Amino acid sequence: MVLKKLCRLEENPTPLAFTILPEPVPLENEILVKVSACGVCHTELDEIEGRTPPPHLPVMLGHQVVGRVEAKGAQTNLFHIGDRVGVAWIASACGRCTFCLSGNENLCPDFKATGRDVNGGYAEYITIAEAFAHPIPNAFSDIEAAPLLCAGAIGYRSLKLTNLVDGQNLGLTGFGSSAHLVLKMVTHRYPNAKVFIFARSADERTFARDLGAYWTGDPEERSPEYIDSIIDTTPVWKTVVEALKNLKPGGRLVINAIRKEESDKESLLQLNYPDHLWMEKEIKSVANVARSDVREFLVLAAEIPIKPEIQEFRLEEANQALVELKKRKIRGAKVLKIA
Ligand SMILES: [Zn+2]
Ligand SMILES: [Zn+2]
Repeated sequence: MVLKKLCRLEENPTPLAFTILPEPVPLENEILVKVSACGVCHTELDEIEGRTPPPHLPVMLGHQVVGRVEAKGAQTNLFHIGDRVGVAWIASACGRCTFCLSGNENLCPDFKATGRDVNGGYAEYITIAEAFAHPIPNAFSDIEAAPLLCAGAIGYRSLKLTNLVDGQNLGLTGFGSSAHLVLKMVTHRYPNAKVFIFARSADERTFARDLGAYWTGDPEERSPEYIDSIIDTTPVWKTVVEALKNLKPGGRLVINAIRKEESDKESLLQLNYPDHLWMEKEIKSVANVARSDVREFLVLAAEIPIKPEIQEFRLEEANQALVELKKRKIRGAKVLKIA
């Protein structure tokens, strides 16, 4: 399913075209992966609509890819033919800069993203440098593993950046696929933490309560207790301002969004310094993922175990999955089942 031209989904609900292409050939350091499942992520909407545009078109999107090694370049030795692997948002990084050397390869200036800077997994085949492919724990089926590779890994990194300690309060603004995985991680790792969910849809709030949230409410509500740290996974600005009022002194808001939409940017003018920022409140974003985030999270997810809620689509139904995501018809993670 190929993206040939950027567009707005409201105007063109079928941005991807079913296309027959030759099988890609792996370079010396790459493996060829036959794809069996690929998660659908909100970032694909940001790519299609030009907020984080692919540098070259046409391109195949998709960065939560699970499949099996079908062929290998001459210089590969980590995986065997038939091994199950995952490919995440990080397709490559330079390996030499100060960020890469300190384990923050997600911040590398040469960071290349799967399904944006290079072809991704909305396809039957993908090639990837083998050092950037990840073994998938046996605990998961292919379909279950796919959404863990982005929503789970970035959720894991976001949670790390909150510095949450057991017994503290955590807020989650928006309750899509990343947030629901964070809630599962928190209830396992921090059994005494209370999780407050801010979500607009009643369905999402019910879903959150089913999964053990302590409190749920609308993003505009004041939470019944002040909150140590909040992760915002929404594409809008209003929730940022609303979240800040619920933070404790010294609290931190982590924004887990690759881009924010412009539609409600004027909400930022509601920012009131004494209520929202004073008392040493912090705002921090989370950017990309390092390989270590993906791998540590997969191990943790298998140990818990985290089984994401899945909604399956066929590869040819990718456009429909994207439109539903745009309309926020969300209950768990959308995954394309391929072949
Ligand atoms: Zn993603
Ligand atoms: Zn680097």
